[in-house]
Amino acid sequence: MRLSAEGVELRYDRKVVARNLSLEIPDNQVSVLIGPNGSGKSTALKSLARLLRPAGGRVLLDGASIQSLPTKEIARRLAILPQVLTTPEAITVEDLVWFGRHPHRRTVGAPSPQDREMVEWALRSTDTAALRDQYVDQLSGGQRQRVWIAVCLAQQTDLLLLDEPTTFLDVTYQLELLDLLARLNGEEGKTIAMVLHDFNMAAEYADHIFVLAAGELVCQGTPREVLTKETMRTVFSLDVEIGVNPRSGRPLVIPLRRRPAPHRVARQTVPGSPTRS
Ligand code: ADP
Repeated sequence: MRLSAEGVELRYDRKVVARNLSLEIPDNQVSVLIGPNGSGKSTALKSLARLLRPAGGRVLLDGASIQSLPTKEIARRLAILPQVLTTPEAITVEDLVWFGRHPHRRTVGAPSPQDREMVEWALRSTDTAALRDQYVDQLSGGQRQRVWIAVCLAQQTDLLLLDEPTTFLDVTYQLELLDLLARLNGEEGKTIAMVLHDFNMAAEYADHIFVLAAGELVCQGTPREVLTKETMRTVFSLDVEIGVNPRSGRPLVIPLRRRPAPHRVARQTVPGSPTRS
């Protein structure tokens, strides 16, 4: 395993989020973390990327404690899209995407053809090339999200950790992004681990799902193993039906409303209003 957490204790000052969390990110697979709000998914992801130092236990990257590795070294192997992104002021899209190349560049010297190629590829892959000269802080939420994803892609790492990468994206861009990640996994063997809220997106794209609740890994496995009525009830307090996606054969989670639909009284036709056939 290239990246794993071994019995980590995760906390913010005195607030303990996880006491003894262990998980191994499967190599060359797409894994997804799900769990209720506040269950510790973002915190776990941050610790895996060394953005948060565990109070106990350790995170291993390629067999070494991640705390012992130089930042540049980590950034060449692992990119993270955190949930909260702080965009520098008055920076253009293209300049921000160039930040992704920092771990690969020497402090002096012109960018290499590979640097340029990766930046162009990252812009193209996220459909942000047309925005290259715009200021990032003037973009819509969805456009900005795509630009930050481009920064991660330009970093050219084998491991990609993404915290709710589909936030702000409309469904078309959500699918485009998840398809892109699936392609990077399928064609280049990149290891992807991400937090997703949508069970059906998780079902469709994950090879492996981790279910977190109150800082504990309550179960893990394939979408079919994990996305069951039982998990939905016990972990999410949700009543669901599980169907089958007719295309992929993967599970389809259908949350059921808690109260039955109200009985509708036939509406009276307002004179002059268009009649429905
Ligand atoms: P999830 O990603 O599953 O929604 P988080 O990892 O964001 O959960 O949060 C886990 C717990 O840690 C929550 O109770 C949250 O309020 C708390 N928390 C998250 N970030 C911070 C922080 N920066 N400082 C203090 N508490 C935090």
